[in-house]
Amino acid sequence: RGIYHSLLQLGEHNQIPTRPDLDIASFVLSQFPHSDHAGSRVALIDSVTSRQITYAQLRQSIKSLAAGLYHGVGIRKDDVVFVLSPNSLLYPTICLAVLSIGAVLTTANPLNTASEIAKQVLDSGTKLAISAPEEVHKLVPTGVPTLITTRSTDENSLSVEELIEGSDPLQAPKVQFLQTETAAVLYSSGTTGVSKGVILTHENFISILTLLKWTAQVTSSEDDVYLCFIPMFHIYGLAFFGLGLFCVGATIVLMPKFDFQAMLDAIKMHQVSNIPAVPPVILGLVKYTSNRDLSSLRRVTSGAAPLSKEVAEKFREKYPWVELRQGYGLTESCGATSFFVLHDQAKALPGSVGQLLPSFSAKVIDVETGLPLPTYREGELWIKSPTVMKSYLGNDEATAATIDSEGWLHTGDLCYFDQDGCLYIVDRIKELIKHNGYQVAPAELEALLLSHPKILDAAVIPVEDEEAGQIPMAYVVRANDFDLTEDQIIQFIAGQVAPYKKVRKVGFINAIPRSAAGKILRKQLVNQTQLSLSKL
Ligand code: AMP
Repeated sequence: RGIYHSLLQLGEHNQIPTRPDLDIASFVLSQFPHSDHAGSRVALIDSVTSRQITYAQLRQSIKSLAAGLYHGVGIRKDDVVFVLSPNSLLYPTICLAVLSIGAVLTTANPLNTASEIAKQVLDSGTKLAISAPEEVHKLVPTGVPTLITTRSTDENSLSVEELIEGSDPLQAPKVQFLQTETAAVLYSSGTTGVSKGVILTHENFISILTLLKWTAQVTSSEDDVYLCFIPMFHIYGLAFFGLGLFCVGATIVLMPKFDFQAMLDAIKMHQVSNIPAVPPVILGLVKYTSNRDLSSLRRVTSGAAPLSKEVAEKFREKYPWVELRQGYGLTESCGATSFFVLHDQAKALPGSVGQLLPSFSAKVIDVETGLPLPTYREGELWIKSPTVMKSYLGNDEATAATIDSEGWLHTGDLCYFDQDGCLYIVDRIKELIKHNGYQVAPAELEALLLSHPKILDAAVIPVEDEEAGQIPMAYVVRANDFDLTEDQIIQFIAGQVAPYKKVRKVGFINAIPRSAAGKILRKQLVNQTQLSLSKL
């Protein structure tokens, strides 16, 4: 009672494989197009250089790199490999080669600073780093052995490209696995505190990829051309583009980084039909007024952050030939949790993030009473599925606060279900701030603010922003001599964090409101801020 089960069915031929010794790389490779003709199908196209990789070449380079990492570099099962790179043709090869030898993948935003990277290297227990040449300098202080992705002029550093060329794919090792073993450690701040390692198993990935494959088969066509600018260091990009779409033999046009104009050019040049995107990109397409031809577009998906009803409606008005669907998910559930699979556009209600994917169950819990709620009542979303993470790395307390003894993952998102099983995310009750779809953990910025000698106390909250979704705003209690300015505080933080984490607004306050237990009363600050901004 009080449990919402998925109303969607995978069908007989699409069940989640439960073979205990199946690993994610073998699963993905087994889904590649098989016949000789299909092997020549293009898997990836670089949008800048137009270089292409066929499925046959992709399989070959994964096997060669696996052999090189195992025999040449000495990487073994359970060794952690840190990938620090923007999207590139090599990214999926690296991920699948690492996973195929039982090593553990950890990824990070290449915009992160050297100290943010050093923290993750230490926390994850990184054994080897694989880095884009321009990011290597951030890894040097960690002393971790590092391979660069592409050849550089530096004679000493070995590149992944060279390792692939110099290794025999037939020497790829056969490593024994259990599905329950760790495949990746991705970082998320969860419901509270700083970034934590989310342990995702081979079983989690096999489950999510089976679901993604099914949704792609139900909602797409075989000749779809996908555009990828969603970064593969994030679960959205990793699950979709790094691994999942190869299971349906898709062709992916890859952009190393997002740029609106380059996106328009790529859509036109490669006749892109399908774009998994984030809300700021949908907004950009709504505002974009040129009459340039976007007729090849058939499907656009929005995920990672809330898409406003108004923007969704305007998008549908402007591009009536494009299906706009929303999905919702989180790193802790290995990506997607709900998606609009239904074809009936009338049912693609603006504001809904779709229905629970097959194999998911959910509860909506009253945040005051802790009791499960019926349809149309708002409460915290709890979910259960084979995609839910094993735990946070080395953090039993955070794990216990997030996954309860019955296996429900507490998402920290406020939601309700309607009578058709459509899910609506109405607010975020966890601390997390999302700037352009990227995670910003207030606790991390608060710790940095408190390290300033002229700051006595601080709290960081989200402020709504049309373009970026949210921006981080800091409330600061200054030490006696009030000569610290907003600009000085913004600069102080900007010097220490990746650009997307910058504090962009500062308010001065006499005391940070706290509960009796000392917890920051963020909602109070958010309401106060909304009120004062609405008066402007
Ligand atoms: P991440 O782990 O970085 O994917 O962040 C997950 C969080 O992003 C979720 O818990 C939500 O707060 C938010 N999120 C993801 N997708 C959506 C969506 N479609 N609508 C609203 N919030 C979303």
